[in-house]
Amino acid sequence: MSRTTTPPVLRFAPSPTGLLHVGNARTALYNALFARREGGTFILRYDDTDTARSTDAFADAIAEDIGWLGLHPDRIEYQSCRLDRYDAAVERLKAAGRLYPAYETEEELEAKRQSRRRRGLPPVYDRAALMLTGAERAVLEGEGRRPHWRFRLDGRKVDWDDMVRGRQGVDTATLSDSVLVREDGSYLYTLTSVVDDIEMGVTHVVRGEDHVTNTGVQIEIFEALGAAPPVFGHHNLLVLPSGEGLSKRLGHLSLRALRDEGEEALALAGLAVLTGTSLPVEPVASLDELAARIDFAKISRAPARFDPEELTALTAATLHHLSYVTVAARLAALGIGGGEAFWRAVRGNLDRLTDAARWWRVVEGPLTPSMAPEDAGFLHLAADLLPQEWGEDVYPRWIAVLKPASGRAGRALFHPLRVALTGAESGPELKALLPLIGREKAAARLRGEAA
Ligand code: GLU
Repeated sequence: MSRTTTPPVLRFAPSPTGLLHVGNARTALYNALFARREGGTFILRYDDTDTARSTDAFADAIAEDIGWLGLHPDRIEYQSCRLDRYDAAVERLKAAGRLYPAYETEEELEAKRQSRRRRGLPPVYDRAALMLTGAERAVLEGEGRRPHWRFRLDGRKVDWDDMVRGRQGVDTATLSDSVLVREDGSYLYTLTSVVDDIEMGVTHVVRGEDHVTNTGVQIEIFEALGAAPPVFGHHNLLVLPSGEGLSKRLGHLSLRALRDEGEEALALAGLAVLTGTSLPVEPVASLDELAARIDFAKISRAPARFDPEELTALTAATLHHLSYVTVAARLAALGIGGGEAFWRAVRGNLDRLTDAARWWRVVEGPLTPSMAPEDAGFLHLAADLLPQEWGEDVYPRWIAVLKPASGRAGRALFHPLRVALTGAESGPELKALLPLIGREKAAARLRGEAA
C-alpha cells in the first residue's frame, strides 16, 4: 500500500448499544493503526442518534475497551450533539429535491413488498410517495400521519476503487430509496455519517463488508451534498468458529470478557488484524509493528473464523517476548517486584500475565521446600557449596563445584535442586531464578527449612 500524501483522517463509528466484540475491534484497529502509521488523525465517533438504544455506559465502555487495546483517539465526537448539522443537511437535500416525505406504515410497506415478490419483482420501494400531490399529503397529515423522509436515489451504477476489494459497483436502481429521517424526526446513520465525514474531513472509511451496499447510497449522498466521497475499504467479517456471525447484542467475544479472561491486548489486536488475511498470524511486539504489517490488499474476501483457542495460544506467545517496559506498570499493579531480571526469568513460562504472581511468590517466599529423603544429604552438600560471592552468574559457578563434589549428573543433579528451591517440578530456568532468590533463602530451602 502506498503512503498517502496528505495526513489521512479516519474514524471508528460504533453505536453505543452494546459492548465491543473482536469484529468491532478489527474495524477500530484498521482505522486507528492506518492513521497512526501515516501520521494522520483517528476520530472516535459515537453513532448515538438512536437515543432509545444508545447509553452513556456503553459509550464509556467502548472508550475504555479501545484504550485497553492501546488505541487513543485524537478526537471524540457524539452525533447526538451535532443535530443542527444534520438539520442543515436535510434542508439542503430537500431544497435539491433529493429528499421526499413518505407516509406508509411498516405494515403497508410489508404488504407492498409481498405483493411485488408474488409478481416476481424485487421488493424495492415503488416510490408511490413521490407521486403524492400537495392535497393528498395534506389529507394524510390531517389523519395524523407523520412522514419519514426518503433519499431519492439516482438509480445508476455507483462505483469506487475499494482499498480491500478493488473496483466495486452498486446499481442504485436496484435499491429502495433510503429512509434518512424517521417519523419521530430522528436521523439514520446513513445520513449522519456522511455529514460528519464531510465536515471532519474524513479521507478513508474502513468498515465491514456488510456496508458495501450502503456505500453505493452514501456516495450519492456525498455528491448530493456537493462533496467528494472519501476512499472506502470494506474488510471481511469475523465469525465464530461455528461460522455464526458475531453479535454485539448477544455479547459474542466481547473485548471485556476476553480481557477478564487474561488475554493480552496485543495478542487480541494481532489476531483481530491478521486473521482472514494472507499474512501469517504471529506475535508482535507493539502496535506500531502491527500497523506496519497492515496491507488492505491482503485481506481475503471470505469471512474469517476467529478462534478463541488461537487467541489463548497467541497470548502466551506474545508474553514470551514482551519487553519489560511494556509490562512494568502492570507487574507493579499485581504487587510483583524483581524488575527486569525477574521478568526475563519468568516470561517464557507464562500463559497469562497473572501467572507471574506464582513465580514471584517462589522468589519472595516463604516457601516450604519438599525433598525426597534420599536427596537430603546431597541437598545439604549443595547448601554448603553455595558460592559466597552472589551475582547473575552464580548458578553455573555453583554447579561447576557441586557436580564433581556430589558425583551426580543430569536429572539426579538438577531435579532435587529445582524441587527444593522452587517447590515445583518444572518452571523457569534455575540459572535465572537463583540470583533472584538470594543466598540466604536458597541455603535455607536446600536444608529443608521454610524460607
Ligand atoms: N455505526 C455504524 C456501524 O457500526 C458505522 C458504519 C460506518 O463506519 O460508517 O456499523
